Amino acid sequence: MDVKPSAIVIGAGVAGLAASIRLAVQGFDVKVFEQAEGPGGKLGHLEANGFHFDTGPSLFTQPANIEELFALAGEPIEAYFRYRRMPDSCFYFYEDGTMIRASADPDQLAEELNRQTGESVEKVKKYLARSAKLYENVAGIFLSHSLHKRSVLWKAPIGKALATVKPAHLFKTLDQVNTGSFSQQKVVQLFNRYATYNGSNPYKAPGMLSLIPHLEHNEGTFYPEGGMISIVNALYKLAEKKGVQFYFNQPVERIIRYNNRVEGVVVNGKNIAASVVVSNIDVYFTYLHLLNDQAAARKILKQERSSSALIFYWGIKKEFPQLGLHNIFFSEAYEKEFDHIFRLKKVYDDPTVYINITAKCEPGKHSPEGKENWFVMVNVPANTGQDWNQLRETCRTQVIEKLSRMLKTNIGALIETENALDPVLIESKTGSYRGSLYGTSSNSRMAAFMRHPNFSRQIQGLYFVGGSVHPGGGIPLCLKSASIMASLVQNDQQRKKHNSEPV
Ligand SMILES: Cc1cc2nc3c(=O)[nH]c(=O)nc-3n(C[C@H](O)[C@H](O)[C@H](O)COP(=O)(O)OP(=O)(O)OC[C@H]3O[C@@H](n4cnc5c(N)ncnc54)[C@H](O)[C@@H]3O)c2cc1C
Repeated sequence: MDVKPSAIVIGAGVAGLAASIRLAVQGFDVKVFEQAEGPGGKLGHLEANGFHFDTGPSLFTQPANIEELFALAGEPIEAYFRYRRMPDSCFYFYEDGTMIRASADPDQLAEELNRQTGESVEKVKKYLARSAKLYENVAGIFLSHSLHKRSVLWKAPIGKALATVKPAHLFKTLDQVNTGSFSQQKVVQLFNRYATYNGSNPYKAPGMLSLIPHLEHNEGTFYPEGGMISIVNALYKLAEKKGVQFYFNQPVERIIRYNNRVEGVVVNGKNIAASVVVSNIDVYFTYLHLLNDQAAARKILKQERSSSALIFYWGIKKEFPQLGLHNIFFSEAYEKEFDHIFRLKKVYDDPTVYINITAKCEPGKHSPEGKENWFVMVNVPANTGQDWNQLRETCRTQVIEKLSRMLKTNIGALIETENALDPVLIESKTGSYRGSLYGTSSNSRMAAFMRHPNFSRQIQGLYFVGGSVHPGGGIPLCLKSASIMASLVQNDQQRKKHNSEPV
């Protein structure tokens, strides 16, 4: 009887769950070890006095990545997971009272930007068409291939990508590209915001990030029934169905290597053998704690960390019909705000505020009748030892003042329940170094190439998935990392089989 090859996944974040499903489908006997009491990692859930909150990610794009996992596993997705496309991607609010309801339809968005700001309809349509082309021709290479293996990269459609990329995408910043594309500052600010998708600074990150708006305004944003936590629940259920075994409250202490091969992991002082080990935890901590490789860990630190966040989970005893699922209240000095986050490592005193309200999509389910569940987030620097207790209190006051001013309502008086998260808590709860949301930032031209590959060059059988490695942070990219990892494993297994077969 054939013995199944064994694989261990360290961490049950979305990428760890996806990795476990893919390896189980490939025929591995898969064990997942997770330090927390349940799956999900940064994608968590909180309930307080009848208010339900997704504690981490709130924006869901590219559901095809999840559909692919169910198709691969031969399971009907409808039995596990339902989602719908949202008509609007976001509601934007400016201090002068301008409000933009950003449609997920490119033509309608162009009309709305023209109505509210005077921006040229043609310019918006042209920008979104270019964003789509860039995404289709360039992102496909970055997101679906390991950039770090020449044999794999050869097969990628490089020529098409090179023909699409203009010098501005590489040599200008996102802000410079946007300033050159639009005549209205409010529209520039709106499209600059997309740098925060991966925790970066639009005044430093390359113009290449202008491919991101394609996701929201051409492909669309989606709402998973039950909120974001239903992504975790669905993937966990699917993994179990495929025979993956989960071990919660069981942190991995060490990765065992012998010469240049992985042999398994140590949990609770016990050796657990496996021929494939996949780390879903922050790559910095993988090297520092699990491999005791200080030099490799230091190398990771050469790359700037992405931004982190201060988040307030407020149960609000009132409904706000002017708000939608996603809402942004912009700061007036956007460049100054990013300078505070990335250079000064401070929290800006007039921050841009994001509010997510899932009660808008499932009224009565996520908050008591007539009330709303507000996930209120401000982008802040990754933790470098700031006094987060004090910063959280100051920021809370500033956010309440800003929202009260812009919504013309005393928001402080409406907060019925309250919880908060800061960079230190993000690190302690999810093991993300310095509490960064997306691993490393994309504030340089080379950032995409500098991310750690999905395999180890030194240790055969060791692979990496998740937000701190290639292709990057955010749920869609984390899911892509699992897909790249799985094809690397498959290739390595096939090569091993051929090499060991008698000629
Ligand atoms: C506040 C916030 C808002 C965000 N907003 C968005 C958004 O709107 N859209 C979006 O796409 N993305 C968003 N992100 C980013 C997104 O959450 C992450 O990119 C993604 O969830 C990371 O998943 P992951 O698989 O890399 O692992 P993580 O979620 O980082 O999970 C890693 C897991 O490893 C476990 N672990 C750590 N050490 C060990 C150990 N030694 N042994 C065993 N287990 C261990 C941890 O407990 C954790 O469960 C947001 C993140 C945060 C925090």
